[in-house]
Amino acid sequence: MINVEKFIRPETIGAAVSLLKAPDCIVLAGGTGVTLSRDPNVRTVIDLSDLQELKSIDITDERIRLGAMVTMTQLRRASGLPAALVTAARAIGSTPLRNVITVGGELARGVYWNDLPVALLAMDAVVEIASEAGVEKLPIAAFLAEHPKKTLAGGKLITAVEIERRFTHVGYLKFARTEVDYAICNLACGLRVEDGVIREARVAVGAIVPLARRIPEAEQSLVGTAPGEEAFVRAAKALVEAIEPRPDFRVSREYQRQLMESLTRRVLEAASQSEQ
Ligand SMILES: Cc1cc2nc3c(=O)[nH]c(=O)nc-3n(C[C@H](O)[C@H](O)[C@H](O)COP(=O)(O)OP(=O)(O)OC[C@H]3O[C@@H](n4cnc5c(N)ncnc54)[C@H](O)[C@@H]3O)c2cc1C
Repeated sequence: MINVEKFIRPETIGAAVSLLKAPDCIVLAGGTGVTLSRDPNVRTVIDLSDLQELKSIDITDERIRLGAMVTMTQLRRASGLPAALVTAARAIGSTPLRNVITVGGELARGVYWNDLPVALLAMDAVVEIASEAGVEKLPIAAFLAEHPKKTLAGGKLITAVEIERRFTHVGYLKFARTEVDYAICNLACGLRVEDGVIREARVAVGAIVPLARRIPEAEQSLVGTAPGEEAFVRAAKALVEAIEPRPDFRVSREYQRQLMESLTRRVLEAASQSEQ
C-alpha cells in the first residue's frame, strides 16, 4: 500500500460495491494480507470495518451463516459450530492474528497455507458474493476453481458463507512444524453416514497443493462403504495417487506422500468418531 491516497469506510454493502468498480481499489478486512501489498496501482482502500451486517454468526439446526467480517477468534468462541470449523480457526496463526483475520479474507487471499477454505470445502459451503449486478451464491469448489483474485475480479465483494448442516461427521487436521507455522499439509472431510453406510463424502486438502481443493477420487472411494479402517486406507491411497504435491523446501516429496496418507486416515477416523 505504497501509493494510497484515499481510505474509505462505507456504511452499506451497496456503497462498498459501487466503490469497488474503480480499478485502483483494494478491500481491507483483517489487513494481515493487504498490509503486505506493495502494488503501486492501489490508490484507494475500502475498509469494511463499519459494515456491522458482515460481522454476525447465525446458527440454526439446518444451517450456519458466517458474515465475511467474522474473525477467527469469533469462530473459536462461538458455541454450536461444527468442531472441524473451530479446529480450523484455532489452527490459524497466533492469537493476535486470529483476532483480526476474517472469513472473507481467508477465502479471498488465495495463498496455499489458508486453513479455513479447506474446512469449508469439506462442508460444501456456499460463498455469497455481492456486486453491482446483484447477489450470487457460488459453491465453494466453484469459487476456488480459479484463483480468488480472478473469481472476485470486476468489483465483487464476499458478504457471507453459508453451510448446510448435511454432513453427520466432519473433521479437520493441520500439520505444521510448530503451532504458529504455516501448514505443510491440511486436510478436512465431511461424511454423511446413514444406516451405517457413507452416502456422501467430501475430502479436501490444502497447503500441499497451491490452492485448497476437493479430491473427488478419495470421495468416490468412500461412497457406498461402511466407515472404518478398510475404507479409510483405500481413500488415503486414492488421495495420494491423485495429488502431485507442490515443491516445499521444508519437506521431501516422499515425506509429503507419507504425510498425506497418514493424515487422510487420521482425519477420517477422527471425523467418524465425532457426531455433528
Ligand atoms: C505471520 C502470519 C501468519 C499467518 N498464518 C496463517 C495460517 O497459519 N493459516 C491461515 O489460514 N492464515 C494465516 N495467515 C493469514 C493469511 O495469510 C491471510 O493474510 C488472511 O487469510 C487474510 O485475511 P484478512 O482478514 O486479514 O484479509 P485482508 O488482509 O484484509 O485481505 C486479504 C485479501 O482479501 C481481500 N478481501 C478481504 N475481504 C474480502 C471480502 N469480503 N471480499 C472480497 N475481497 C476481500 C483483500 O482485498 C485482499 O486482497 C497468517 C498471516 C500472517 C501475517
